[in-house]
Amino acid sequence: MIKFINVSKTYNKDIIALSNVSFEIENGEFVFIVGPSGAGKSTLIKLLLKEEEPTTGTIIINKKDITKLKRREIPYLRRSMGVVFQDFRLLPNKTVFENVAFAMEIVGASHKEIRRRVPMVLSLVGLSDKADNYPQQLSGGEQQRVSLARAIVNEPSILIADEPTGNLDPDTSWEIVKLISEINKRGTTVVMATHAKDIVDAMKKRVIALEKGNMVRDEVRGAYDYAL
Ligand code: ADP
Ligand code: ADP
Repeated sequence: MIKFINVSKTYNKDIIALSNVSFEIENGEFVFIVGPSGAGKSTLIKLLLKEEEPTTGTIIINKKDITKLKRREIPYLRRSMGVVFQDFRLLPNKTVFENVAFAMEIVGASHKEIRRRVPMVLSLVGLSDKADNYPQQLSGGEQQRVSLARAIVNEPSILIADEPTGNLDPDTSWEIVKLISEINKRGTTVVMATHAKDIVDAMKKRVIALEKGNMVRDEVRGAYDYAL
């Protein structure tokens, strides 16, 4: 469960990135965050990941007020969330297998567990045959699949995707969205910030729209723009 209660974020005292935003996302939901450039989407995601702190307001994730977490509790928060970005952020000197395994090593998983889980998630994203390749040997779509595998390998309750199709052609974008949709159907909450109007309009999922830091829409089966 994700809950924003009257959350505002101001940068440098005068740049209002988010203004009094409140919403609640239940476990297992699929939510698009839309809005023009500068609307506050990335800020919302950074607040979720605790990469930024709200100026005012409360953010609750899985029943915990994350604005009040102790330093030693932050790794547990991060572990409950998997993240994918527009630019994939894979480690260039590690193979596909090693990139995914690394996410497990960070949280102290055993070699046995790594040898079991990594092939499982690579198969889930359709990359079993690329395990020994390096990221630069893969297409953009394949790199984003690796990044998805890495995001879910520790079984987070929430998957956060920040413009995950921003660098991909339309067909490849759809493949990635279908994978994200499958991950959601297996029970993971998905929060996806995107500019991809076609995808948002076809998926008919919940849409939270931001404009100049204000939440201007929250629709259950929403579209990218206002319904006519
Ligand atoms: P979006 O992701 O929707 O493009 P952002 O959350 O990146 O929007 O930005 C919202 C507003 O906050 C913009 O006016 C942007 O310039 C500003 N902003 C974002 N990050 C910073 C920062 N680190 N310092 C100052 N201003 C920022
Ligand atoms: P479902 O949620 O029903 O399993 P998907 O998640 O695969 O379906 O796709 C959601 C919606 O996106 C469906 O309405 C589907 O028709 C549409 N869609 C899937 N692939 C494409 C594509 N390549 N181009 C346009 N629309 C697509």
